[in-house]
Amino acid sequence: MEIVTGVHQLRIPFPEGVARFTNAYVIEGNRGNILIDCGWDSSEAIWAFREELRIQRLSFDDIRWIVITHVHPDHFGMAAKLRELCGAKIVMHQADAELVSSRYGDYRELAEQTEALLVSHGVPREEAAEMRDASAWGAQYVTVAEPDETVGEGDVVSNGTFQLEVMHTPGHTPGHICLYDSRKRRLFTGDMVLFDAIPHVGIDPQSGEDPAGDYIASLEAMSGRNVSFVFPGHGPVFNSLGIRSEEILRLLDARQRQILSVLDDGMKDAYQVTRELPWKMDGAEVGYDDLEARERRAGVCAMVAWLRRLVRNGEVAALEQHGRTVYLAK
Ligand SMILES: [Zn+2]
Ligand SMILES: [Zn+2]
Repeated sequence: MEIVTGVHQLRIPFPEGVARFTNAYVIEGNRGNILIDCGWDSSEAIWAFREELRIQRLSFDDIRWIVITHVHPDHFGMAAKLRELCGAKIVMHQADAELVSSRYGDYRELAEQTEALLVSHGVPREEAAEMRDASAWGAQYVTVAEPDETVGEGDVVSNGTFQLEVMHTPGHTPGHICLYDSRKRRLFTGDMVLFDAIPHVGIDPQSGEDPAGDYIASLEAMSGRNVSFVFPGHGPVFNSLGIRSEEILRLLDARQRQILSVLDDGMKDAYQVTRELPWKMDGAEVGYDDLEARERRAGVCAMVAWLRRLVRNGEVAALEQHGRTVYLAK
């Protein structure tokens, strides 16, 4: 669908019947088209991409730049195939470009580091092994591709009609970027700001020490921009960037208060806190044990990120107990 003049949204399905979509955007310009994000590398996603182009009277050949907001498989997976189909250049931030081969090539070392990290936060060994093996599901829908160009804060990707300024917005991944056209007031947010979900922010061996702090700083830096339309990587397009950013900050703050209340009755590791908190899937509250291994892993990794934020804010202390990190509410 052409949402505003020159900006087409392509809805690309997730694999294996997972009821979600990635929003890819084709931005028309007098020097060629820019594609922002792709979708998973699955047969149904590639076919959907082709169908969306055809319906909207767009072509593979007009796409000159494939700009990736971040390295996750639902945005980057199909990039290598599309580069071939379009003859386009892949553009992404250096910090995420560096993660491609360790995540999707030979990812055994990263999987082992992740397992050790989970064990050090209290996950039982058997469950940590199950969580480690959950990486394979995502990696099978990604073709490894090195980008042709890397970009950083303040760089501009232009097709003559749109001037997209790169904003480095780490937190969801270390090299996440948003793209902003200040003249037209268009903002493409990837997974940084969504209208109907809070982006995942979690610790992993490549996330840096304080991804939650990075995310909040990115959100605060971005929320003051003058924006008429926000084009997110999932869910509906919206225009209230400031209001939505504040709402996300409030919800994150409420989650931290919940974490503190769980720590009120004793020292706990991140795994124990994760098990005690309610989790939501598709709007419904679920117990920890009802979650798939990759969702449980995401839950524990997110918990560590928010516990570290509380440590940095001085509300919680982290103590090492026999190779395990436990948290004490001060
Ligand atoms: Zn993502
Ligand atoms: Zn995503």
